[in-house]
Amino acid sequence: MVPTPSTETSSAPFSFEIETRLRDSSSPSTEQIQANGGQFQGRTGTIHTPHGNIQTPAFIPVATQAVVKAVLPESLADEGAQAMLANAYHLFLQPGDDILDAAGGLGKFMNWPGPTFTDSGGFQVMSQGSGLGKVIDMSTVEEPLGDDDIAKGQERMANVDDDGVWFRSYINGDLHRFTPEISMQIQHNLGADIMFAFDELTTLHNSRGYQEEALERTRLWALRCIAEHQRLTEERSHKPYQALFGVIQGAQYEDLRRKACRDLATMGFDGFGIGGALEKQQLGTIVRWCTEELPESTPKHLLGISEPDDIFTAIDNGVDTFDCVSPTRVARSSAVYSPTGRFNLTNARFARDFTPISDTCPCYTCAHYTRAYLRHLFKAKERNAATLASIHNERFILDIVSGARDAINTGNYFEYRDKTLRNYYQMQ
Ligand SMILES: [Zn+2]
Repeated sequence: MVPTPSTETSSAPFSFEIETRLRDSSSPSTEQIQANGGQFQGRTGTIHTPHGNIQTPAFIPVATQAVVKAVLPESLADEGAQAMLANAYHLFLQPGDDILDAAGGLGKFMNWPGPTFTDSGGFQVMSQGSGLGKVIDMSTVEEPLGDDDIAKGQERMANVDDDGVWFRSYINGDLHRFTPEISMQIQHNLGADIMFAFDELTTLHNSRGYQEEALERTRLWALRCIAEHQRLTEERSHKPYQALFGVIQGAQYEDLRRKACRDLATMGFDGFGIGGALEKQQLGTIVRWCTEELPESTPKHLLGISEPDDIFTAIDNGVDTFDCVSPTRVARSSAVYSPTGRFNLTNARFARDFTPISDTCPCYTCAHYTRAYLRHLFKAKERNAATLASIHNERFILDIVSGARDAINTGNYFEYRDKTLRNYYQMQ
Protein backbone atom coordinates (compact mmCIF):
# COMPACT_ATOMS: atom_id res chain seq x y z
CA MET A 1 0.00 0.00 0.00
CA VAL A 2 1.29 3.43 -0.89
CA PRO A 3 0.31 6.03 1.68
CA THR A 4 -0.40 9.31 -0.05
CA PRO A 5 0.00 12.53 1.92
CA SER A 6 -3.41 13.49 3.17
CA THR A 7 -4.76 16.99 2.78
CA GLU A 8 -7.41 16.45 5.44
CA THR A 9 -7.17 18.62 8.49
CA SER A 10 -7.73 16.99 11.86
CA SER A 11 -9.70 18.73 14.59
CA ALA A 12 -6.70 19.14 16.91
CA PRO A 13 -3.98 21.17 15.18
CA PHE A 14 -1.22 18.83 16.40
CA SER A 15 -1.39 15.63 18.38
CA PHE A 16 0.26 12.27 18.82
CA GLU A 17 -1.26 8.98 19.80
CA ILE A 18 0.58 5.78 20.67
CA GLU A 19 -0.86 2.62 19.13
CA THR A 20 1.23 -0.44 20.00
CA ARG A 21 4.07 -0.62 22.51
CA LEU A 22 6.93 -2.93 21.58
CA ARG A 23 7.18 -4.28 25.12
CA ASP A 24 3.51 -5.33 24.97
CA SER A 25 3.56 -6.84 21.50
CA SER A 26 6.88 -8.70 21.09
CA SER A 27 8.90 -10.89 23.38
CA PRO A 28 12.57 -10.03 23.19
CA SER A 29 15.05 -12.80 23.93
CA THR A 30 17.21 -12.67 27.05
CA GLU A 31 20.17 -11.69 24.87
CA GLN A 32 18.21 -8.90 23.27
CA ILE A 33 17.09 -7.62 26.65
CA GLN A 34 20.64 -7.64 27.98
CA ALA A 35 21.98 -5.93 24.86
CA ASN A 36 19.45 -3.21 25.38
CA GLY A 37 19.99 -2.56 29.06
CA GLY A 38 16.74 -4.31 29.96
CA GLN A 39 14.53 -1.79 28.23
CA PHE A 40 12.60 -1.41 25.01
CA GLN A 41 10.79 1.87 24.51
CA GLY A 42 9.74 1.26 20.90
CA ARG A 43 6.18 1.91 19.79
CA THR A 44 3.95 2.66 16.84
CA GLY A 45 1.75 5.71 16.67
CA THR A 46 0.26 8.51 14.60
CA ILE A 47 1.32 12.14 14.51
CA HIS A 48 -1.53 14.38 13.39
CA THR A 49 -0.53 17.65 11.70
CA PRO A 50 -2.51 20.28 9.79
CA HIS A 51 -1.15 18.78 6.54
CA GLY A 52 -1.97 15.17 7.30
CA ASN A 53 -0.89 12.26 9.45
CA ILE A 54 2.44 10.52 9.90
CA GLN A 55 2.29 6.83 10.80
CA THR A 56 5.22 6.14 13.08
CA PRO A 57 7.92 5.01 13.28
CA ALA A 58 8.59 6.98 10.11
CA PHE A 59 11.61 7.80 8.04
CA ILE A 60 11.55 11.45 6.95
CA PRO A 61 13.45 12.14 3.70
CA VAL A 62 15.64 15.23 3.77
CA ALA A 63 14.75 18.06 1.42
CA THR A 64 17.45 20.48 2.55
CA GLN A 65 16.76 23.20 0.00
CA ALA A 66 13.02 22.43 -0.33
CA VAL A 67 13.89 19.58 -2.66
CA VAL A 68 15.04 16.01 -2.16
CA LYS A 69 18.07 16.13 -4.42
CA ALA A 70 17.27 14.86 -7.92
CA VAL A 71 13.84 13.46 -6.95
CA LEU A 72 10.37 14.94 -7.53
CA PRO A 73 8.07 15.01 -4.50
CA GLU A 74 5.47 13.15 -6.56
CA SER A 75 7.91 10.24 -6.90
CA LEU A 76 8.56 10.20 -3.16
CA ALA A 77 4.84 10.15 -2.42
CA ASP A 78 4.53 7.14 -4.75
CA GLU A 79 7.33 5.39 -2.85
CA GLY A 80 5.58 5.91 0.48
CA ALA A 81 7.23 9.01 1.96
CA GLN A 82 4.94 10.63 4.51
CA ALA A 83 6.77 13.87 5.31
CA MET A 84 9.86 15.89 4.37
CA LEU A 85 12.46 17.74 6.40
CA ALA A 86 13.95 20.99 5.08
CA ASN A 87 16.61 23.22 6.46
CA ALA A 88 16.00 26.66 7.96
CA TYR A 89 19.63 27.70 7.48
CA HIS A 90 19.73 26.97 3.77
CA LEU A 91 16.29 28.41 3.02
CA PHE A 92 17.03 31.57 5.01
CA LEU A 93 20.15 32.16 2.91
CA GLN A 94 18.51 31.13 -0.34
CA PRO A 95 15.88 32.06 -1.53
CA GLY A 96 14.93 33.75 1.79
CA ASP A 97 12.23 32.67 4.25
CA ASP A 98 10.03 35.66 3.29
CA ILE A 99 9.68 34.17 -0.19
CA LEU A 100 8.45 30.85 1.21
CA ASP A 101 6.01 32.74 3.43
CA ALA A 102 4.67 34.62 0.41
CA ALA A 103 4.36 31.31 -1.48
CA GLY A 104 2.12 29.90 1.26
CA GLY A 105 4.78 27.99 3.18
CA LEU A 106 7.33 25.26 2.51
CA GLY A 107 4.89 22.54 1.40
CA LYS A 108 3.11 24.74 -1.12
CA PHE A 109 6.38 26.20 -2.39
CA MET A 110 7.86 22.75 -3.13
CA ASN A 111 4.59 21.08 -4.20
CA TRP A 112 4.49 18.67 -1.27
CA PRO A 113 0.97 18.54 0.21
CA GLY A 114 1.93 16.37 3.19
CA PRO A 115 3.52 17.20 6.55
CA THR A 116 6.83 19.05 6.66
CA PHE A 117 9.59 19.59 9.22
CA THR A 118 12.28 22.27 9.38
CA ASP A 119 15.32 22.07 11.58
CA SER A 120 16.40 25.20 13.39
CA GLY A 121 19.56 25.98 11.46
CA GLY A 122 21.67 25.61 14.59
CA PHE A 123 23.30 22.42 13.42
CA GLN A 124 24.31 23.82 10.03
CA VAL A 125 25.43 27.17 11.40
CA MET A 126 27.67 25.54 13.95
CA SER A 127 28.79 22.44 12.12
CA GLN A 128 29.81 24.43 9.07
CA GLY A 129 31.30 27.07 11.31
CA SER A 130 33.48 24.60 13.12
CA GLY A 131 34.57 22.95 9.91
CA LEU A 132 32.86 19.67 10.76
CA GLY A 133 31.00 17.44 8.36
CA LYS A 134 27.25 17.47 7.98
CA VAL A 135 26.65 14.12 9.63
CA ILE A 136 25.82 13.79 13.27
CA ASP A 137 28.45 11.16 14.00
CA MET A 138 31.57 13.23 14.42
CA SER A 139 33.76 10.50 15.74
CA THR A 140 35.48 10.40 12.37
CA VAL A 141 36.89 13.92 12.63
CA GLU A 142 40.58 13.43 12.02
CA GLU A 143 42.11 16.27 13.97
CA PRO A 144 41.04 16.65 17.56
CA LEU A 145 39.16 19.88 18.13
CA GLY A 146 39.21 21.95 21.29
CA ASP A 147 36.60 24.25 22.77
CA ASP A 148 38.14 27.24 21.04
CA ASP A 149 37.57 25.72 17.66
CA ILE A 150 33.85 25.74 18.07
CA ALA A 151 33.32 28.67 20.38
CA LYS A 152 35.80 31.41 19.73
CA GLY A 153 37.91 30.72 16.64
CA GLN A 154 38.67 33.93 14.78
CA GLU A 155 39.01 32.27 11.40
CA ARG A 156 36.01 30.09 11.86
CA MET A 157 32.73 30.76 10.13
CA ALA A 158 30.65 30.79 13.35
CA ASN A 159 30.98 32.40 16.77
CA VAL A 160 28.66 31.49 19.64
CA ASP A 161 27.76 33.90 22.44
CA ASP A 162 25.04 33.77 25.09
CA ASP A 163 22.58 35.62 22.90
CA GLY A 164 23.08 33.72 19.65
CA VAL A 165 25.50 32.97 16.84
CA TRP A 166 27.29 35.07 14.25
CA PHE A 167 28.07 33.09 11.14
CA ARG A 168 29.18 33.55 7.56
CA SER A 169 27.08 32.42 4.62
CA TYR A 170 28.50 29.35 2.93
CA ILE A 171 27.34 30.89 -0.36
CA ASN A 172 29.04 34.29 -0.36
CA GLY A 173 30.68 34.79 3.03
CA ASP A 174 28.18 37.46 4.19
CA LEU A 175 27.90 37.83 7.95
CA HIS A 176 24.55 36.79 9.52
CA ARG A 177 23.10 36.54 13.01
CA PHE A 178 20.92 33.72 14.38
CA THR A 179 19.30 34.00 17.79
CA PRO A 180 16.49 31.84 19.22
CA GLU A 181 14.02 34.57 18.22
CA ILE A 182 15.38 34.88 14.68
CA SER A 183 15.30 31.10 14.21
CA MET A 184 11.64 31.05 15.31
CA GLN A 185 10.78 33.93 12.97
CA ILE A 186 12.46 32.18 10.06
CA GLN A 187 10.77 28.86 10.84
CA HIS A 188 7.35 30.49 11.18
CA ASN A 189 7.89 32.07 7.77
CA LEU A 190 8.90 28.70 6.35
CA GLY A 191 5.64 27.33 7.75
CA ALA A 192 6.56 23.67 8.40
CA ASP A 193 4.21 21.58 10.57
CA ILE A 194 7.04 20.65 12.92
CA MET A 195 9.91 22.99 13.83
CA PHE A 196 12.87 22.61 16.14
CA ALA A 197 14.11 24.94 18.88
CA PHE A 198 17.41 26.70 18.28
CA ASP A 199 20.16 24.89 20.16
CA GLU A 200 23.91 24.90 20.44
CA LEU A 201 25.67 22.00 18.82
CA THR A 202 28.77 20.76 20.59
CA THR A 203 31.16 18.02 19.52
CA LEU A 204 32.59 15.00 21.29
CA HIS A 205 35.86 16.92 21.44
CA ASN A 206 34.55 19.70 23.66
CA SER A 207 35.50 19.55 27.32
CA ARG A 208 32.99 18.55 29.98
CA GLY A 209 33.02 22.14 31.23
CA TYR A 210 32.15 23.46 27.82
CA GLN A 211 29.35 20.88 27.42
CA GLU A 212 27.80 22.15 30.66
CA GLU A 213 28.07 25.75 29.54
CA ALA A 214 26.56 24.97 26.13
CA LEU A 215 23.75 22.94 27.67
CA GLU A 216 22.78 25.82 29.93
CA ARG A 217 22.80 28.12 26.90
CA THR A 218 20.56 25.65 25.04
CA ARG A 219 18.18 25.58 28.04
CA LEU A 220 17.90 29.37 28.11
CA TRP A 221 17.52 29.45 24.32
CA ALA A 222 14.71 26.86 24.58
CA LEU A 223 12.78 29.19 26.90
CA ARG A 224 13.28 32.06 24.46
CA CYS A 225 12.17 29.85 21.54
CA ILE A 226 8.96 28.94 23.38
CA ALA A 227 8.19 32.59 24.18
CA GLU A 228 8.82 33.76 20.62
CA HIS A 229 6.92 30.77 19.20
CA GLN A 230 3.88 31.63 21.34
CA ARG A 231 4.04 35.27 20.25
CA LEU A 232 4.28 34.32 16.57
CA THR A 233 1.55 31.68 16.85
CA GLU A 234 -0.81 34.39 18.14
CA GLU A 235 0.33 36.98 15.62
CA ARG A 236 -0.06 34.51 12.76
CA SER A 237 -3.22 32.79 13.99
CA HIS A 238 -4.59 32.74 10.41
CA LYS A 239 -1.82 30.26 9.46
CA PRO A 240 -1.91 26.48 10.14
CA TYR A 241 -0.58 25.59 13.60
CA GLN A 242 3.13 24.79 13.74
CA ALA A 243 4.37 22.42 16.42
CA LEU A 244 7.65 23.14 18.18
CA PHE A 245 10.04 20.39 19.31
CA GLY A 246 12.71 21.06 21.94
CA VAL A 247 16.19 19.69 21.18
CA ILE A 248 18.01 17.53 23.71
CA GLN A 249 21.77 18.03 23.81
CA GLY A 250 24.34 16.81 26.35
CA ALA A 251 26.75 14.85 24.15
CA GLN A 252 27.81 11.51 25.66
CA TYR A 253 27.11 12.43 29.30
CA GLU A 254 24.20 10.62 30.92
CA ASP A 255 23.65 13.21 33.64
CA LEU A 256 23.65 16.06 31.12
CA ARG A 257 21.28 14.29 28.72
CA ARG A 258 18.88 13.45 31.54
CA LYS A 259 19.07 16.97 32.95
CA ALA A 260 18.36 18.43 29.50
CA CYS A 261 15.30 16.18 29.21
CA ARG A 262 13.97 17.17 32.64
CA ASP A 263 14.55 20.87 31.94
CA LEU A 264 12.89 20.86 28.54
CA ALA A 265 10.05 18.51 29.51
CA THR A 266 8.42 21.23 31.62
CA MET A 267 8.53 23.96 28.99
CA GLY A 268 5.50 23.00 26.92
CA PHE A 269 7.13 21.64 23.77
CA ASP A 270 4.94 19.56 21.42
CA GLY A 271 7.68 16.95 21.02
CA PHE A 272 11.43 16.53 21.19
CA GLY A 273 14.42 16.16 18.94
CA ILE A 274 17.43 14.21 20.11
CA GLY A 275 20.48 15.88 18.66
CA GLY A 276 24.13 16.59 18.95
CA ALA A 277 27.29 14.66 19.15
CA LEU A 278 26.72 10.91 19.29
CA GLU A 279 29.13 8.08 18.74
CA LYS A 280 27.53 5.34 16.72
CA GLN A 281 28.28 2.69 19.37
CA GLN A 282 26.52 4.82 21.98
CA LEU A 283 23.51 5.79 19.90
CA GLY A 284 21.07 3.36 21.53
CA THR A 285 22.20 4.13 25.06
CA ILE A 286 21.96 7.89 24.63
CA VAL A 287 18.57 7.70 22.93
CA ARG A 288 17.31 5.45 25.73
CA TRP A 289 18.35 7.92 28.46
CA CYS A 290 16.31 10.54 26.63
CA THR A 291 13.21 8.48 25.90
CA GLU A 292 13.16 7.19 29.50
CA GLU A 293 13.28 10.72 30.83
CA LEU A 294 10.94 12.52 28.43
CA PRO A 295 7.14 12.23 28.71
CA GLU A 296 6.08 9.00 26.99
CA SER A 297 3.14 10.71 25.30
CA THR A 298 5.32 13.10 23.24
CA PRO A 299 6.74 12.28 19.79
CA LYS A 300 10.53 11.99 19.58
CA HIS A 301 12.64 12.73 16.52
CA LEU A 302 16.25 11.62 16.12
CA LEU A 303 18.14 14.21 14.10
CA GLY A 304 20.32 12.84 11.33
CA ILE A 305 21.19 9.15 11.34
CA SER A 306 22.89 7.23 8.60
CA GLU A 307 22.71 3.45 8.27
CA PRO A 308 20.11 0.64 8.49
CA ASP A 309 21.42 -0.56 11.87
CA ASP A 310 20.95 2.96 13.29
CA ILE A 311 17.32 2.84 12.22
CA PHE A 312 16.61 -0.23 14.33
CA THR A 313 18.61 1.14 17.24
CA ALA A 314 16.45 4.26 17.12
CA ILE A 315 13.18 2.32 16.85
CA ASP A 316 14.14 -0.11 19.66
CA ASN A 317 14.64 2.83 21.94
CA GLY A 318 11.45 4.73 21.30
CA VAL A 319 12.26 7.12 18.46
CA ASP A 320 9.15 7.91 16.39
CA THR A 321 10.66 9.79 13.44
CA PHE A 322 14.15 10.30 12.07
CA ASP A 323 15.76 11.90 9.08
CA CYS A 324 18.74 10.88 7.06
CA VAL A 325 20.53 12.28 4.00
CA SER A 326 22.33 9.02 3.23
CA PRO A 327 19.90 7.46 0.71
CA THR A 328 20.29 10.29 -1.79
CA ARG A 329 23.86 11.15 -0.87
CA VAL A 330 25.19 7.66 -1.50
CA ALA A 331 22.92 7.28 -4.57
CA ARG A 332 24.64 10.22 -6.24
CA SER A 333 27.91 8.35 -5.96
CA SER A 334 26.29 5.23 -7.50
CA ALA A 335 25.88 3.25 -4.28
CA VAL A 336 22.57 1.46 -3.83
CA TYR A 337 21.02 -0.48 -0.97
CA SER A 338 19.75 -4.01 -1.34
CA PRO A 339 18.41 -6.55 1.18
CA THR A 340 21.85 -8.20 1.09
CA GLY A 341 23.88 -5.03 1.49
CA ARG A 342 25.06 -1.97 -0.35
CA PHE A 343 26.85 -2.12 -3.68
CA ASN A 344 28.19 0.14 -6.36
CA LEU A 345 26.41 0.27 -9.72
CA THR A 346 29.50 1.32 -11.65
CA ASN A 347 31.12 -2.05 -11.08
CA ALA A 348 32.16 -3.72 -14.36
CA ARG A 349 30.22 -6.86 -13.51
CA PHE A 350 26.95 -4.99 -14.12
CA ALA A 351 27.76 -4.02 -17.74
CA ARG A 352 25.47 -6.77 -19.09
CA ASP A 353 23.33 -7.33 -16.03
CA PHE A 354 19.76 -6.80 -17.20
CA THR A 355 18.14 -7.40 -13.82
CA PRO A 356 16.86 -4.67 -11.51
CA ILE A 357 18.86 -3.37 -8.53
CA SER A 358 16.78 -5.67 -6.35
CA ASP A 359 14.37 -8.40 -7.48
CA THR A 360 12.18 -7.85 -4.46
CA CYS A 361 12.05 -4.04 -4.53
CA PRO A 362 8.70 -2.57 -5.60
CA CYS A 363 10.15 0.88 -6.43
CA TYR A 364 9.71 2.70 -9.73
CA THR A 365 13.37 2.25 -10.67
CA CYS A 366 13.40 -1.50 -10.09
CA ALA A 367 10.11 -1.88 -12.00
CA HIS A 368 11.52 -0.19 -15.13
CA TYR A 369 15.32 -0.16 -15.25
CA THR A 370 18.23 -2.57 -15.20
CA ARG A 371 21.60 -2.50 -13.47
CA ALA A 372 23.27 -2.36 -16.89
CA TYR A 373 21.31 0.76 -17.85
CA LEU A 374 21.95 2.46 -14.51
CA ARG A 375 25.65 1.64 -14.76
CA HIS A 376 25.67 3.22 -18.21
CA LEU A 377 23.98 6.40 -16.90
CA PHE A 378 26.53 6.73 -14.10
CA LYS A 379 29.44 6.12 -16.48
CA ALA A 380 28.03 8.66 -18.94
CA LYS A 381 27.50 11.14 -16.07
CA GLU A 382 23.82 11.46 -16.93
CA ARG A 383 21.64 13.11 -14.28
CA ASN A 384 18.90 10.48 -14.41
CA ALA A 385 21.42 8.17 -12.77
CA ALA A 386 21.13 10.11 -9.51
CA THR A 387 17.35 10.36 -9.83
CA LEU A 388 16.77 6.64 -10.39
CA ALA A 389 19.27 5.49 -7.76
CA SER A 390 17.86 7.98 -5.22
CA ILE A 391 14.29 6.78 -5.80
CA HIS A 392 15.39 3.22 -5.11
CA ASN A 393 17.41 4.08 -2.01
CA GLU A 394 14.66 6.21 -0.49
CA ARG A 395 12.17 3.39 -1.09
CA PHE A 396 14.52 0.88 0.48
CA ILE A 397 14.76 2.83 3.74
CA LEU A 398 11.06 3.76 3.72
CA ASP A 399 10.17 0.07 3.36
CA ILE A 400 12.50 -1.04 6.17
CA VAL A 401 10.80 1.43 8.49
CA SER A 402 7.23 0.68 7.45
CA GLY A 403 8.13 -3.01 7.83
CA ALA A 404 9.29 -2.28 11.37
CA ARG A 405 6.00 -0.52 12.09
CA ASP A 406 3.99 -3.47 10.80
CA ALA A 407 6.17 -5.88 12.77
CA ILE A 408 5.63 -3.99 16.04
CA ASN A 409 1.89 -3.98 15.40
CA THR A 410 1.80 -7.70 14.65
CA GLY A 411 4.18 -8.74 17.44
CA ASN A 412 7.15 -10.02 15.44
CA TYR A 413 9.45 -7.00 15.55
CA PHE A 414 12.56 -8.72 16.86
CA GLU A 415 12.45 -11.46 14.22
CA TYR A 416 11.98 -8.82 11.54
CA ARG A 417 14.80 -6.64 12.86
CA ASP A 418 17.29 -9.47 13.27
CA LYS A 419 16.53 -10.99 9.88
CA THR A 420 16.77 -7.63 8.09
CA LEU A 421 20.10 -6.79 9.71
CA ARG A 422 21.54 -10.29 9.29
CA ASN A 423 20.79 -10.20 5.57
CA TYR A 424 21.93 -6.61 5.07
CA TYR A 425 25.24 -7.02 6.85
CA GLN A 426 25.68 -10.57 5.50
CA MET A 427 26.05 -12.08 8.94
CA GLN A 428 25.46 -15.76 9.56
ZN1 LIG B 1 14.14 -0.42 -6.12
